[in-house]
Amino acid sequence: MSDYKASLQDMNFVLHEVFGVADDWAVMPELQEMMDADTATAILEEAAKVTEGLIAPNARNADEQGVSYRDATVTTPDGYKEAFRQLAEGGWVGVTANPELGGMGLPKVISAQYEEMMCAADISFSLYSGLTAGAIIALDSHASDEIKQTYIPRMAAGEWTGTMCLTEPHAGTDLGIIRTKAEPQADGSFALSGTKIFITGGEHDLTDNIIHLVLAKLPDAPAGSKGISLFIVPKFLVNEDGSLGERNAVAAGSVEHKMGIHGSATCVMNFDGAKGWLVGEPNRGLAAMFTMMNYERLGVGIQGLGAAARSYGTALDYAKDRRQGRGAKATQDTSASADTLLVHGDIRRMLLTMKAFIEGGRAFSSYVGQQLDRAKYAPHAEEREAADKLVALLTPVAKAFMTDTGLEATIHGQQILGGHGYVREWGQEQWVRDCRIAQIYEGTNGIQALDLLGRKVAGSRGELLKPLLADIEKTLNEAGDNWSKEAAQLRAATEALVSVTEGILKQVPTDENIINSLAVEYLQLVGYVAYAYLWLRMALVAEASDSTDSFYTAKVKTARFYFAKLLPRIDGLVGALESGSESLYLHDEDDF
Ligand SMILES: Cc1cc2nc3c(=O)[nH]c(=O)nc-3n(C[C@H](O)[C@H](O)[C@H](O)COP(=O)(O)OP(=O)(O)OC[C@H]3O[C@@H](n4cnc5c(N)ncnc54)[C@H](O)[C@@H]3O)c2cc1C
Repeated sequence: MSDYKASLQDMNFVLHEVFGVADDWAVMPELQEMMDADTATAILEEAAKVTEGLIAPNARNADEQGVSYRDATVTTPDGYKEAFRQLAEGGWVGVTANPELGGMGLPKVISAQYEEMMCAADISFSLYSGLTAGAIIALDSHASDEIKQTYIPRMAAGEWTGTMCLTEPHAGTDLGIIRTKAEPQADGSFALSGTKIFITGGEHDLTDNIIHLVLAKLPDAPAGSKGISLFIVPKFLVNEDGSLGERNAVAAGSVEHKMGIHGSATCVMNFDGAKGWLVGEPNRGLAAMFTMMNYERLGVGIQGLGAAARSYGTALDYAKDRRQGRGAKATQDTSASADTLLVHGDIRRMLLTMKAFIEGGRAFSSYVGQQLDRAKYAPHAEEREAADKLVALLTPVAKAFMTDTGLEATIHGQQILGGHGYVREWGQEQWVRDCRIAQIYEGTNGIQALDLLGRKVAGSRGELLKPLLADIEKTLNEAGDNWSKEAAQLRAATEALVSVTEGILKQVPTDENIINSLAVEYLQLVGYVAYAYLWLRMALVAEASDSTDSFYTAKVKTARFYFAKLLPRIDGLVGALESGSESLYLHDEDDF
């Protein structure tokens, strides 16, 4: 397995040359003292050291050893406990947490790069701190001051981790039908009873305490999703002086045996009258949990990117080294009996597809990260509102498109090694298995697509698309003659997106199946158009650079590849979208 190397040059290019994030920070009162370009570069260099040196070396063993369960306790793979301790000591668990509560308060656009490095190093391990970061944000946004002061500083310090307990055996996507109950107690707390399944980090040996955020129903709750409340349930109760008290009545019943992320403990959690406290308003728990889920969704998208980036490193080294067959005459190496894989067109197709999705994905996650920062810190209300709209539109795309393209990329990374990609020795099959879950959890990619097309696009009558279209238009206007072909392609793709959207909106009143039938292809279309916009934007910046570094010429060439080979995929999507929902509903149940 190749060692992991973080893509620092590309991250710095995206952050500073493409998005000019330091200019944003300079006018943001909360960030202007803390952040500038040099600080950001130093943080990313440190993050690279931690992820390359401390986290990545454990990934292979963690996959093989996995977690083990015995008598309600879970043991993580060798090396995880020490790595988590060092990660916590370095302050990395609280990177995004509120500085007033012990966090680093880094802008999202920076933590997105750190998250990519964590996921490329070891997705399984990244989940323990990633979910903690999400839980901190949900508590910071919705919990009482007392809860915040008791829990957040210890979680931000990595002394305790967080979980998100939503799923039940009969209730996955449809959380409205959960059965976990919360009975009010005389002391103002609640007694929670029920079973949650698939709980990431529900039990482990990395920290002394685990803080569960749990969705449950109050006795008089209205039916459906309007009757769900959010509770905080610690594994150990916390005494007034902050020390750990009694063990709470929550325990892991088992761990799942699964396709990938073997180092992550996926637990069945039994709540038997466990003591918990309400977070936020009664019956408003789903909205509060969405704060965490929205944060996690970009993070899960980044898992796709990280897995792809890790796979690319090995695939590229292998393609440069392995000799098989002869290339075209001009590329033949006559000093050897065969040429490297890199001369072959099909290998180049796969490597460049990976590269275009990875660098496009890195730009996309940074674009969303920058908008998240603007939505929170921009000095003017209208800027914050515009950014908020882009975040609402792009979050489901980030989760689904980055994991779909991430999986495709890891499969190419496996294919490039032929049979050696299928066997374990080179490690390529691990990234395929580890990446696969990212399309499923945190709301399946199908559900992300429904959110995009149903709630966001149709729900706003297309209004939410407008800030993205305005950004695209700005870049199209900057493209000179050298990019006229690609600019024309992007304009046509954008027009197709607008026309498809209008077509769907017209059908909504008369076809109740239209959204559910077209959502996935629609999300893919938005993804390809958004990446095309970012590739054109990156190409213009790279071409204008004075640098003679081949990084910039390679960037331009990869942009040409994206427009030549990947953007044309939208023609098939547009055709399928224009065909409507009819062909999906011709079959009666017996016809399947
Ligand atoms: C390894 C792992 C870790 C996980 N970690 C956590 C965790 O930490 N906390 C937690 O609470 N949960 C966790 N989950 C649960 C995960 O989020 C759910 O598996 C996921 O939300 C889907 O729910 P489900 O599996 O019950 O599938 P279902 O909800 O039964 O869905 C089955 C299929 O039907 C589709 N579908 C469902 N409803 C609709 C609809 N209305 N329209 C169209 N299609 C639909 C889905 O997209 C899917 O393809 C984890 C799961 C796994 C496997």
